[in-house]
Amino acid sequence: MIKKLLRSLARLAPGHAHGHGKAGAHDPQVYKASKVGIDRHNVSSAANRTVEGLQKAGYRAFIVGGAVRDLMLGMRPKDFDVATDATPEQVQRVFRRARVIGRRFKIVHVLFGSETIEVSTFRALSADNQETDAHGRVLNDNTFGEQHEDATRRDFTINALYYDPLSDTVLDYHQGVKDLKARLIRMIGEPSQRYREDPVRMLRVVRFAAKLGFEIDGATRAPIAHLARLITNVPDARLFDEMVKLLQSGQAYKGLEGLREHGLHHGCLPLVDAVLEPEGSDEERESALRFVRLALASTDARVLAGKPLSVGFLFATMLWHLVRHAWHQKVAQGERPITALQTAIDEVVDHQLADLAIQKRIVADMREIWMLQPRFEKRVGGTPFRLLDHLRFRAGYDFLLLRIEAGQADEALGQWWDEFAQADHEARLEMIKAASKLPGQPAAKRRRCRRTPRLEQPSE
Ligand code: ATP
Ligand code: MG
Repeated sequence: MIKKLLRSLARLAPGHAHGHGKAGAHDPQVYKASKVGIDRHNVSSAANRTVEGLQKAGYRAFIVGGAVRDLMLGMRPKDFDVATDATPEQVQRVFRRARVIGRRFKIVHVLFGSETIEVSTFRALSADNQETDAHGRVLNDNTFGEQHEDATRRDFTINALYYDPLSDTVLDYHQGVKDLKARLIRMIGEPSQRYREDPVRMLRVVRFAAKLGFEIDGATRAPIAHLARLITNVPDARLFDEMVKLLQSGQAYKGLEGLREHGLHHGCLPLVDAVLEPEGSDEERESALRFVRLALASTDARVLAGKPLSVGFLFATMLWHLVRHAWHQKVAQGERPITALQTAIDEVVDHQLADLAIQKRIVADMREIWMLQPRFEKRVGGTPFRLLDHLRFRAGYDFLLLRIEAGQADEALGQWWDEFAQADHEARLEMIKAASKLPGQPAAKRRRCRRTPRLEQPSE
């Protein structure tokens, strides 16, 4: 019975379905790793030790997934995943510091110093008791299987390579090496079925195409347009994680454009529309697009330089246009600027973020960055001192610089703050004195300043 099932699965395997390659789904092609571009120095010692530990204990173990792909492209992967035939409990027994996590998809985190290696047991292709939702989305995934099954369950051929650093070999069940060399993203198996099982794969294909600069194979690309709506079945938290990954791929703008190009925006990811198709006058739209391009370019530069990124800052830049647009409208209707900004933010947070399970902490960050913006204008009394001491000053200031670059704020304002941040106390007092005479500074504060000339002790 089982043999029959495996045989029929083998017939369904892409090597046969697409008619390329002689190797059956059960017999991988074996490459010498150093011959396919892998430099073993790019493998972290934690990943090496994990594989070694498992193999010494008698199990099979390989580095898998994105790490192998990145290694073959000559990059040093940011994290390493390991696949093995040991069960999570067996893995846990091999290592001193290891814990089993997850319920629907049990994996083991093996810890070496500050590095964590994610170890997963080979998954079976499908099981009779596999839970799916009404659209075919797989909900449960703890049935262990053979390595070739594990390979066939993975999403794209370039993500299904197994690298053994100890024997310097790469096992390839699905022509991944060939596709990688051709810079092609190809789904393993029948693409529409694979998207139905997990609609997030539609976002993943776009992300990898943008990140790696690869083409998407025709058959892999074709079904996306009419399956795009399935994205709405994905739990919000997963969607949010995937959006963050896309924005942190080092090719954020290209990634967002890719989502739009594949129809993964209208009604699926409203955020993409908000960012790429801003509302307002021609001038406003142009300024909004300029702002978002600058913001995402600076995000990409940070990612490529290996610098940390704040998710709050990232989302604050993407939704800024909506906030700004609503803010300006309210001010034009006579609302006081600060109150207007507050209500504009509330509206955007309620409408735009309802579809994304964005954590409260991140929303709080975004709110702070936005609310700091008008405070940069106010350069009287103790305000600049308090702003400088503000926990989010740096983020707010970086945001101001983007607004300046996009033509939304005065360049002199940025220079003033740059100087102010570096000046000593006396010079700061002088700067405030001079700035408070500038047009646009609040009159009430100016009067109060004159009555209280001593500014040495800024009070809250
Ligand atoms: P990244 O560089 O973003 O980490 P990655 O390919 O490593 O890319 P992960 O999300 O870390 O992506 O997943 C690790 C591996 O697990 C993938 O390479 C792929 O083989 C498999 N995988 C992840 N998500 C899916 C999915 N939705 N469907 C099938 N396989 C998946
Ligand atoms: Mg990964």
